Amino acid sequence: MKRLFRRWLDTLWPPYCLLCGQVHSGSIQSICLPCLSDLPRIDTPCWRCGLPIAFDPKFASRQPTQLCGNCLKRTPSFHHCVAPWLYDMPVQQVINGFKHKQQLVYGRLLADLLARRVTEHYADKDKRPTLIIPVPLHQQKLRKRGFNQALEIAKIIARNTQIPLDPHRVQRCKPTTSQQELTAMQRRRNVRNAFVCRKPFQGECVAIVDDVVTTGATCDALASVLSEAGAGEVHVWAVARTLKHPY
Ligand SMILES: [Zn+2]
Ligand SMILES: [Zn+2]
Repeated sequence: MKRLFRRWLDTLWPPYCLLCGQVHSGSIQSICLPCLSDLPRIDTPCWRCGLPIAFDPKFASRQPTQLCGNCLKRTPSFHHCVAPWLYDMPVQQVINGFKHKQQLVYGRLLADLLARRVTEHYADKDKRPTLIIPVPLHQQKLRKRGFNQALEIAKIIARNTQIPLDPHRVQRCKPTTSQQELTAMQRRRNVRNAFVCRKPFQGECVAIVDDVVTTGATCDALASVLSEAGAGEVHVWAVARTLKHPY
């Protein structure tokens, strides 16, 4: 019934790609297949931090759980990161349109893309996190922006994956300054003691959801609070990440 209704809607208003404007029949409503395959995908990510690992197939076979040099030296507090695309054009433009210009259709596209990737990634459902926590915004920033972009993405992922969402478990208690211009060390200092967990965990595997991972310092600080509160493993799910490591 739902499928028939969708087909009827598609006949009346055919879906068009938000990136190239073409009418299309791809399975994600707001992006066509050629634009989807042109997104700057991270093909060989570090299991822990999600950064691309330079890999030469002539010399070794790559294990999916392989770690990058930075994570071998000092591992972040989170255990695994799923961030399929680089924070580069056009992903960067879509994230900025959603976050800073309130273009909600872009938010929907980001959430659909990440939900699809997460579903493919955890083929074994027993290995999936059992709770989703969006990275919280401080009240000041929430009032200014009007919405938490991480929560809006997390809501759609929770609905698509049927994994419960808890947006109230963690609070951002410190109004941190924007991370954009800071060095890795300044970022870590900036988010230190920024989060407080309001209810303990019972060893659950938890997924932190955000739009973009910059160095990973925010997720690192949040993951450390979740682990101290009893979370078993902490995974990070983000649409994109930059080429910076938290350490
Ligand atoms: Zn397109
Ligand atoms: Zn790494």
